[in-house]
Amino acid sequence: MDHCVLKIDKAGQPVDWLSKEQAATLVCNDKVVWSFGDRLIELRGGFNRRGERSILKLHPILAVDGRVSHHSYRVPLSNRLLARRDRYLCMYCGQKFPLSKLTRDHVLPKSRGGRDVYQNLVVACQCCNTRKGNRTPEEAGMPLLAVPFQPTFCEFLALANHHVLADQMAYLEKGFKHQHMRLN
Ligand SMILES: [Zn+2]
Repeated sequence: MDHCVLKIDKAGQPVDWLSKEQAATLVCNDKVVWSFGDRLIELRGGFNRRGERSILKLHPILAVDGRVSHHSYRVPLSNRLLARRDRYLCMYCGQKFPLSKLTRDHVLPKSRGGRDVYQNLVVACQCCNTRKGNRTPEEAGMPLLAVPFQPTFCEFLALANHHVLADQMAYLEKGFKHQHMRLN
């Protein structure tokens, strides 16, 4: 896992995921106001003259000075994030698929003005996507298993990382709006 340290602001608002190296840079430059979390993450550094390797132990949550505003931030959209949101389940037949077998389905078809936004997108298996074709779920008689939603910033951070630690999740959950996310 590359991005494993959660950066938060002084008020406890999640800001971003950091790689170990980015986190170490903040620590070494005295940018960390406080740090928190049980499981320490080790970063191995170089060897000294005696052949000993330096190890920096990082907390999984680092607070930095300043405050962030998520209002202006647009959550990126990708098939991977959609699949994570929909738990790798085809939203029509409910079967689980690997990412490579899931397609992006426009609930209201694109040809009929359906937009490329989270609220109009679900993942579907090839078979269901083809069967639904250029129809709405109602027209096709294929009800959606869950209503697609736009993730909040904190939900996006949770979806973007496969290995969120419990301590980190506690911070992200403050920004969750959708019940669905808590079951993940
Ligand atoms: Zn399906």
